[in-house]
Amino acid sequence: MALLSGKTALVSGIANRWSIAYAIARAFHAHGAQLVLTYEGERTKDEVEKMASETGGVATMCDVAKDDSLAALRRFLEERGAKVDALVHSIAFARKEELAGKFYATSRDGFALALDVSAYSLVALCRELAPVFGPRASVMAMTYLGSVRAVPSYNVMGVAKAALEASVRYLAVDLGESGIRVNAISAGPIKTASARAVSGFTSILGDVAAKSPLRRNAVADDVANAAVFLASDLSAAITGHVLYVDAGYNIVGIA
Ligand code: NAP
Repeated sequence: MALLSGKTALVSGIANRWSIAYAIARAFHAHGAQLVLTYEGERTKDEVEKMASETGGVATMCDVAKDDSLAALRRFLEERGAKVDALVHSIAFARKEELAGKFYATSRDGFALALDVSAYSLVALCRELAPVFGPRASVMAMTYLGSVRAVPSYNVMGVAKAALEASVRYLAVDLGESGIRVNAISAGPIKTASARAVSGFTSILGDVAAKSPLRRNAVADDVANAAVFLASDLSAAITGHVLYVDAGYNIVGIA
């Protein structure tokens, strides 16, 4: 069943084929969406352009930490007359040394950097792209349980995800009057480049597999299927929500 035919989806955050955004873009394409993919810089350009050409989509550069880059993205869409029906924010960054050890050791500029790239960027993207959103557009951001629980080494990224989830709620109110929905998917741990930067990530994977109700980890395709649902009209009355795709780990008190 093609749930997204006739829709254009902008997917950010593909670094390589292990990225959550890569699985989402593949699932969106399988459900009939037209893809606009963004990459941050030269390092990921080839991989993202390859995927765009394989799926009949387009790719363009966007560094979400730069306002002129966001404006260039809007112009890219306007020049093509594209309306964005689904927007996937799948972006996060914190310095590796701040994803280990004590949270209180986080530097002032490391804190600001993590929150800027990982949370403020969603606000800036929504503001910049508001003129090119389709009438019932669906925006989604990727978050993690470290926003509401203290997870070892997740540190400043947990604070950034808390800001991201709060931003989702405020954006849902702002954009709701235009019929646009804004949600977050809280994914369980998945082995990607970003995840591997978190000290002790492998033991987090083991803990989830042992203690989650489904006794397994979620995989990128699980997240992608939830993203298809959120992008589709099946979720038309859902906004401001954080949808956990984590094999149920978030509900467990004592396992
Ligand atoms: P990933 O493959 O490393 O993706 C992270 C992406 O963020 C990369 O494509 C990276 O681009 C991009 N990025 C960083 N700074 C950027 C900037 N200034 N402008 C534009 N793009 C930028 O890792 P992932 O695990 O799929 O992460 C995707 C999202 O899922 C993140 O929000 C992450 O926090 C969230 N998440 C991940 C997990 C997990 O366990 N993997 C769990 C829950 C939530 P470059 O590589 O080119 O820098």
